[in-house]
Amino acid sequence: MKIIADTGRCIGAGQCVMAADSVFDQDPATGEVVLLVARAPADEVDAVLDAVSTCPTGALATAED
Ligand code: SF4
Repeated sequence: MKIIADTGRCIGAGQCVMAADSVFDQDPATGEVVLLVARAPADEVDAVLDAVSTCPTGALATAED
């Protein structure tokens, strides 16, 4: 599962990092989401989907490989 992050929509709220901190980080200068991996590790799929659904601005999405 590919992860897509639209930094233009990100407001740095950080829910994604709280959901999956091995997948998402935030730029220390701007607060914008940074993807640590391009694809969700098998054991983080549920956490990534949780991040996608809780992001307040809809900045995150997934796509099948
Ligand atoms: S939850 Fe959404 S708005 Fe918040 S840091 Fe992550 S991508 Fe950005």
